[in-house]
Amino acid sequence: MQILSLVKDIPVLLKTYISPQIFQDIYQLLVIKGKRITKSFPIEVHVTEHCNLNCAGCSHFSCLAGEEYLEPEQFEKDFKRLAELTDRFFVIKILGGEPLLHPRITEFFEIARKYFPTTAVQLTTNGILLTKMPEEFWRSCRKNNIVVSISQYPIRLPKKEIKRIAGEHKVRLVFNGSTDEHRMCKMPLDLTGSQDIAKSHRKCAISWGCCVTLREGRIYTCCVAAHIKFFNAYFKQNLVIGEKDYVDIYAIGGNKSCGGAITSIQNGKDALIDFLEKPFPFCRYCKTSDTKFAQRWGISKKEITEWID
Ligand code: SF4
Ligand code: SF4
Repeated sequence: MQILSLVKDIPVLLKTYISPQIFQDIYQLLVIKGKRITKSFPIEVHVTEHCNLNCAGCSHFSCLAGEEYLEPEQFEKDFKRLAELTDRFFVIKILGGEPLLHPRITEFFEIARKYFPTTAVQLTTNGILLTKMPEEFWRSCRKNNIVVSISQYPIRLPKKEIKRIAGEHKVRLVFNGSTDEHRMCKMPLDLTGSQDIAKSHRKCAISWGCCVTLREGRIYTCCVAAHIKFFNAYFKQNLVIGEKDYVDIYAIGGNKSCGGAITSIQNGKDALIDFLEKPFPFCRYCKTSDTKFAQRWGISKKEITEWID
């Protein structure tokens, strides 16, 4: 049974950990055959919106966001609800922005572990602040079995020192991506929203489950739709997010605490999977067929051309 479930998860694992170009090719092959490729997925949550690196063209728009922190209380409310709705996550990713900028970061570890005791929980960071983190941070990582995943950029990181501290605290470290200058991917936005929705979704390297995002009680298929408000606000644009672009976790399924039937919880789970497998109106803003891989990394000048052609 476990082997079967692992086989089902292979596409999403490939999509998460292998280059988007390779994934896109595999993905299109599978889609052509009309297969449902996954029943489980990682879920991402921003605990900060701002970042201390500010990469050009950040797909989470963090370089355009102001200083903004998620309240652990909001996180707990949403995770309690998620635990009622689904067990489909194979990893919970706590990220941002730069999550280590959050002064209450360890509270998110405790909450995620409380509601999902056996699910992998990962902190995704650019690593810049890791050697400055207090003892309490490392102890909480260890206690809650948090994997610290470092997204690598072409910057100097004291990797040896980071490995030493993590090793001392028996915390698992993963280094992801490359330090190559040409590590960024650019999927241009179409400000007029005139792309073919189905085609954009089909050719998208991040649709179908690699960056499913929870934000303010809503689940979005991708980081672009979830965080577009920062792009809109900074450049005074109006790329519209409507009710069909997300799932409201409080509007689907039943509620165990007020006696909702198990079948309606089941329906909530199915509604979520159904939503995540389909194109949605916001895809009209994405020129996915013009995605450029291996773009040169640099610090953002906050110019709109970092996100459009
Ligand atoms: S480090 Fe990550 S979150 Fe921060 S600006 Fe770069 S791509 Fe965005
Ligand atoms: S909105 Fe649709 S096409 Fe655009 S990045 Fe998200 S899933 Fe892909």
